[in-house]
Amino acid sequence: MTDESAALAYIKNHVQFSFKPRREIDIIVERKFNQVLKDASENCDFYKNTPIPFPFLTKEEVRGNIDTGLISNKHIGHPCLVLDRTSGSLADSVPFAYLRGFERYARMVLPFMINTQWKWGQRYCVLSTVHCSRDRCSTSDLPAYVDQVKIPTSDHIFTDQEVLEKAASVLNDNQKTIVHADPFYLCAVAYYLDMNKKRLSLKGISSTYELLTLPVQRYLERIFQCRVFDCYGCSEFGPIAFGCEKDGKHVFEDSVFVEIVDQGRYLDGDVGEIVVTALENPAMPLIRYRTGDLGKWITKPCGCGRTAKKIEIYGRKGQCISFKGILYSERDIARLMDIPGVLLYQLIQSPCHSRESGDFTFNILPEKGYAANGKRNKIGQEIKNRFGQLGTGHLSVVFVDHIEPEKSGKFKTVFIE
Ligand SMILES: [Zn+2]
Repeated sequence: MTDESAALAYIKNHVQFSFKPRREIDIIVERKFNQVLKDASENCDFYKNTPIPFPFLTKEEVRGNIDTGLISNKHIGHPCLVLDRTSGSLADSVPFAYLRGFERYARMVLPFMINTQWKWGQRYCVLSTVHCSRDRCSTSDLPAYVDQVKIPTSDHIFTDQEVLEKAASVLNDNQKTIVHADPFYLCAVAYYLDMNKKRLSLKGISSTYELLTLPVQRYLERIFQCRVFDCYGCSEFGPIAFGCEKDGKHVFEDSVFVEIVDQGRYLDGDVGEIVVTALENPAMPLIRYRTGDLGKWITKPCGCGRTAKKIEIYGRKGQCISFKGILYSERDIARLMDIPGVLLYQLIQSPCHSRESGDFTFNILPEKGYAANGKRNKIGQEIKNRFGQLGTGHLSVVFVDHIEPEKSGKFKTVFIE
């Protein structure tokens, strides 16, 4: 079997798996999970003598043990072993390894196929951070069936006019294709197009890498005249959940085992940290790995008929704000910030002695058409109404003309000083 036909069979299996009776899925997942534990205990020094159930694995532990037995003895020196790191500085990033294969690519394109008319082998565009664009997604050794166009990117995507112009031009030349993008980066290009009174027509947008907020989703759908479907994954595992043609995201339960833990601390009592076990990575089996992302199970049956679990993402655990002892996630904040005219925002929390939650500065990037003082005052007033009720200290609203990403290339919506 060629790689291409194996990848197509893999996609077909994953689609079929997501429709299996729930009981059948549970049995298969449990069997795979137990096999991963057994293999890891036998082949990874790090996991030898680990009590069952395995304790949670933290990013710090992975950083500290990459050279002491996290990689399977069976796969050290394997010709297909890929050693990589998540984005960010050496101190922040996490090393990980896997065997080079079609699996990550196949899971990435599966939602293209179910959400649009995209066919295997067709072109798609990618827009991500400079780090990812440079290192991980190297196009030099891509298989022949991958027709990928990289959209120019920049560490200062909102202000780099040259890159914005080039990115808009590449998108213009690739209308009717799929764009797999970081929603903030694509939003910067959309904003540039909007300011130049332009609209494009894409086949669909697969949003990933960052939390997709409703205002950004609506904006991208308006500027690019197509549907945006949201996917979830992280570098260590590749795609974890795929955007459904109906709504929301289904977990790739055949590839990853997902748990949600430490619930009850957030505004929504069902939200907790997403913990993932790789079911298909014998080279470096991350077991019960704390992703640092927050999520919640969506238990309502999906209109698509799939039985695979559905998950909603609530942002990063490190970017929550406490109001009156309750933690508000990035998604909760994004809901409060869903105010007409607000496209993007950054919320900066600074300590204040008289209030538990402190003082807040809201940097707001308004949509086009919100330059007038009257309209801006209305936005400011609405923010003060909504957040004032939560018991904050002093609130100030500042209108900005761009938002800067962090050094890692990711956009933070919440800063805690
Ligand atoms: Zn569905």
